[in-house]
Amino acid sequence: MTKKLRVFATCDIGESVGLLRQRGYEVEVYPEPEAPPKSLIIGKVKSGVDGLITTLRDPIDAEVFEAGKGTLKVVAQIAVGFDNINRADANRYKVPFTHTADVLTEATAEFAFFMMGVLARKMWSAEHLTRENQWAYWHPYLPYLGDEVTGKTIAVIGTGRIGQALIKKCTGFDMNILCYDPVYQNQDFVNAVQETKDLRHAKGFSQDKTWIKYVPLEEALSEADFVSIHVPLLREGESTTSTYHFINERTLKMMKPTAYLINDSRGPVVDELAVVKALKENWIAGAALDVYEKEPLPHDSPLRDPALEDRLRLYPHFASAARLTRLSPDPNRGMAGRCVQGLIDVLEGNYGGDVTKMPYVVNKEAFAK
Ligand code: NAD
Repeated sequence: MTKKLRVFATCDIGESVGLLRQRGYEVEVYPEPEAPPKSLIIGKVKSGVDGLITTLRDPIDAEVFEAGKGTLKVVAQIAVGFDNINRADANRYKVPFTHTADVLTEATAEFAFFMMGVLARKMWSAEHLTRENQWAYWHPYLPYLGDEVTGKTIAVIGTGRIGQALIKKCTGFDMNILCYDPVYQNQDFVNAVQETKDLRHAKGFSQDKTWIKYVPLEEALSEADFVSIHVPLLREGESTTSTYHFINERTLKMMKPTAYLINDSRGPVVDELAVVKALKENWIAGAALDVYEKEPLPHDSPLRDPALEDRLRLYPHFASAARLTRLSPDPNRGMAGRCVQGLIDVLEGNYGGDVTKMPYVVNKEAFAK
């Protein structure tokens, strides 16, 4: 009898676990909603599991790979970002790791778009006003007004999958689009968006002609009404274009005092203390954050200052948290399905066992012949 493949999942990923069990896998799921301690992950790996299902909360590095030497064959991450996995260590130990790109692109992009609307149109303050019985009159401008999104200018920082998906949504709202990405400039995509914009104008869908272009960083930040961040977290030394504290006092000062900052990429991309200062000193008009330097957001975070409440929207790393996106077992629809498929590809030797051909493996470079 062949030995059952063993998998440890650091969180429950719904019915996709059942799919693995149906294929004869022995799967253990960490039952708590919080992340397991690293020592527990190491213990499970040491016990000889073949595969590890991880989330962005689990630090996966040399200690984990050392514990799995000779037994751990794959780490399958349920997220597109993988800054919690030490790529150099994975490569050194020759362990492929997978992620769930694409299936969360639209959900994350629409969340950024909605954050922009909630923030600029003051929807949170307006609902509080209504619920707390403070709505005393209809008046042309009292107690406050919000800013429209339609027709405004957005800077999209990072024009990868999610940045491009956001650009498509902004095109439907006739926004002008400033793109900034020092690594990947998709001019064909930009040309196609411009053609769409021209057609919308020609057909009378949009009153004004609108545009999209790649620009240098300073131009993007200084001319935008909204700045939305869609870059991976790359710390110093991991890339020549590190994104750690990409938004800081210097870059916030480049923004207009009427502009809004949106971040649903990774928390450490934004210097939170600088954002607090920028809001308090009115360098910018507002910010909406889904991700933080430390998660969950600490009780004593300066971002919780009630003085900032009306201009700072805070969400609990929630951008991909939509039913189908998170849990569909279909690898072409859901993160859970894609996570499990990535694991199966490696453990069952799909694609002729050639890791470089497996679509969800990230660190293919470690397996190139
Ligand atoms: P992607 O790799 O397709 O796109 C990232 C883009 O950023 C690339 O085009 C890259 O060239 C660009 N980039 C890299 N360094 C840059 C820099 N210094 N300045 C400007 N651009 C730079 O990734 P994606 O699928 O679009 O996802 C982006 C990130 O969003 C992920 O890495 C993840 O951390 C985050 N994310 C968050 C959530 C959430 O729930 N909040 C959900 C999904 C993804």
